[in-house]
Amino acid sequence: MVGKSISEPNLRTLNSDVFWPQVFAQPSVKKVTAVLIFDAHLDLALNGVDWNRDMRCSVDDLRAHERHLGMTEAGRTGSTLSLPELRAAEIGICLSTLLARQEKEINHSFGWTSPQTCYAMAHAHLAWHRAMERAGLMRSIKTKRDLAHHIEDYRKNPTTAPLGFIQTMEGADPVLIPDTIDEFYEHGLRAIGLTHYGANRYGGGTACEVGLALDAIPLLKRISELGMTLDVTHLSDVAFWQALEYFDGRIHASHQNSRRLAPWQRQFSDEQYKAVIDRDGVIGMAFDVIMLQPGYVRRVTPATVTMERVVDNIDIVCQLAGNTRHVGIGSDLDGGYGVEQTPADFDRIRDLQRLTEMMSKRGYTEADIAGIMHGNFLRFFSEVLPD
Ligand SMILES: [Zn+2]
Repeated sequence: MVGKSISEPNLRTLNSDVFWPQVFAQPSVKKVTAVLIFDAHLDLALNGVDWNRDMRCSVDDLRAHERHLGMTEAGRTGSTLSLPELRAAEIGICLSTLLARQEKEINHSFGWTSPQTCYAMAHAHLAWHRAMERAGLMRSIKTKRDLAHHIEDYRKNPTTAPLGFIQTMEGADPVLIPDTIDEFYEHGLRAIGLTHYGANRYGGGTACEVGLALDAIPLLKRISELGMTLDVTHLSDVAFWQALEYFDGRIHASHQNSRRLAPWQRQFSDEQYKAVIDRDGVIGMAFDVIMLQPGYVRRVTPATVTMERVVDNIDIVCQLAGNTRHVGIGSDLDGGYGVEQTPADFDRIRDLQRLTEMMSKRGYTEADIAGIMHGNFLRFFSEVLPD
């Protein structure tokens, strides 16, 4: 299915008593009526760098490798995606993050104790993407022309075209001073969210109800001047409304579910959803159960919601908008957790294809479904990216 031949030696035979995942193990794909998916939020470099996963392997091999190593940390042995798996899922294009959050605790599972280390780790993530490009597995999309070319190539060659990605940053912790944003722009950064969990130098994020910091103002100004889109996911409520006031450019919410379904601050209220819709933004639906199941506690509560819950969330956005143009997919899969924290009927990212049938049964037309699976985010980025 992947169709790439590799020139590396077969490591299994070189060192047969050590488990080596099989690079490019071919997923068996049952093609039903697969439709192209644009996933607006994937932490691929976090997996490749921080979690030290060989993303060229199959999901089965990634899981087996971590079982073989006896890893027991949360999210280990339960990965739901890899590059071959994304191809099997028909995810041809995504937003791929630079993610390096500043934390006080030195032993936090991900988090770095200084802005300078966050900056360095963001560069490690940039370098990981570059290495994947050099291996012919991913393709950076920086302009409207890149986007059009990639989609044309992917439609013509769905089994061989690289995974297209638009570089985004989840939490501006690596941006040392507002001006450093220009340097990341030069490296292809086209979207950015100011905060992640907790507060950072730019303002309040998830589970932390404080507003924007003063440094956010020149940063927002520069993001707008550069024509980048502001990802409003992970802003605290007060910071969200302030950001909308101070930022005059395009906005989207990359992985953002409804507070009606999981009533705590990580999710958006109807008013927040409406504000994104009013500014012609697109909102990505996430598959993390903590964002779908009321009262869910990580590593304690079993996941009982199913993927229908994601379709419930799609319905909410469409009802608020009065159309289907403002919702897409931002799965957030393998963003620091594994299959144990996904809907009960979900195993790996190719399961996203099942959304099409679920939406169809609820009366969504083929055009609506295509818009939600890829068209809405494609339209958004075809407007936002530079020429
Ligand atoms: Zn996130």
